[in-house]
Amino acid sequence: MATFKAPKGTYDLIPPVSVKYLAVREAISAPLRNSGYGYIETPGFEDVGLFARGVGESTDIVSKEMYAFETKGGDQLALRPEGTASVLRAALEASLHKQGNLPVKLWYSGSYYRYERPQKGRYRHFSQVGAEAIGAEDPALDAELIILADQAYRSLGLRNFRILLNSLGDKECRPVYREALQSFLRGLDLDEETVRRAEINPLRVLDDKRPDVQKQLVGAPVLRDYLCDACKAYHEEVRALITAAGVAFEDDEKLVRGLDYYTRTTFEFVHDGLGSQSAVGGGGRYDGLSEMIGGPALPSVGWALGVDRTVLALEAEGIELDIPASTSVFAVALGEEARRVLFGKVTELRKAGVAADFSFGGKGLKGAMKDANRSGARFAVVAGERDLAEGVVQLKDMESGDQTAVPVGELIDTVRARLA
Ligand code: ATP
Ligand code: MG
Repeated sequence: MATFKAPKGTYDLIPPVSVKYLAVREAISAPLRNSGYGYIETPGFEDVGLFARGVGESTDIVSKEMYAFETKGGDQLALRPEGTASVLRAALEASLHKQGNLPVKLWYSGSYYRYERPQKGRYRHFSQVGAEAIGAEDPALDAELIILADQAYRSLGLRNFRILLNSLGDKECRPVYREALQSFLRGLDLDEETVRRAEINPLRVLDDKRPDVQKQLVGAPVLRDYLCDACKAYHEEVRALITAAGVAFEDDEKLVRGLDYYTRTTFEFVHDGLGSQSAVGGGGRYDGLSEMIGGPALPSVGWALGVDRTVLALEAEGIELDIPASTSVFAVALGEEARRVLFGKVTELRKAGVAADFSFGGKGLKGAMKDANRSGARFAVVAGERDLAEGVVQLKDMESGDQTAVPVGELIDTVRARLA
């Protein structure tokens, strides 16, 4: 019989490492929950057309990386490769934008799927925490999101990351730039696929990682020189607000990002300890997306931070998160009578809000104490027949090794007092 393995490009989160992922999700979402963002959850799959239209047919995400399939009922679906299109679809469907409460600020956390060539930091199943502020054109929103992401990374102790910032212009100035770039690209010696890309989405050619292409791109027109006055003013305001918040960033006029829907502000968080998979998060403004998926004009901005790469960044910086032991009290029962009494006490402790665990499986004292140690519990409660005959249990402080007899009826209060 063949044994099964996790599919290629995926991995399991298992204890004790899995707790890091929870802590990272918690740290990234805390600043959002503290800033008026409401939690949203959408399905793991959507109509394939949502991504084709929303993310863009010419993007790598849609053209190469999407898990698209037909259901038995004939529906064309795709596992979600990213969160923004789904969140906007859900907000439109629920008419969140019609209640006069714009911007609608939402955050999410979940799994995303891309058929990529697996390598360190690049998986086929990965997880993101993201935020979207829908329905307002306000540079303070762009700034807020960048500041909150910076705060999230810093709260984890990360330091070796940089924020790259650019503006992609809007529907006034971007087309003019697009023309200029296109005529520049037409004069280059590019392979067939890149020539095609230059016609469909010329900005993405700037993102080409191949050295021979990059060499030819020297002297290409830069967007900054084409930004209209409104885009320039908007961008300056975003920069000023982030600067005033004490958040350092670098202007990167080559930053275009892989998704079609971005306008104006775009940014990426890169970490210098991660090799070629250096982007730990990214985002930007997407003023045209709502209309692209059939909604009204809803200028919006958002980001998504990669949980997997953030964990790798923590490792690269040698950061050990300060995660408290999940169990405070571990009960070790010796004999049938003690099992019944202590199992009852464990239930009481849990109801009282104390994290407690029990030596299951009828182990002897030695094995059970090993389990108590492994649990990281601050206290072990040990009881055998003789203790119970005296109406006590032994409360052992696992740090100091001190052991005291405590009357059974006082255990809960004693433990709570000593933990406080
Ligand atoms: P890259 O240029 O590395 O492919 P991207 O531009 O495709 O990244 P986004 O779509 O902006 O990435 O997603 C936001 C974040 O999600 C990325 O910065 C990264 O941290 C994470 N991410 C994206 N794709 C993957 C993947 N295949 N495996 C792990 N994390 C990923
Ligand atoms: Mg990608």
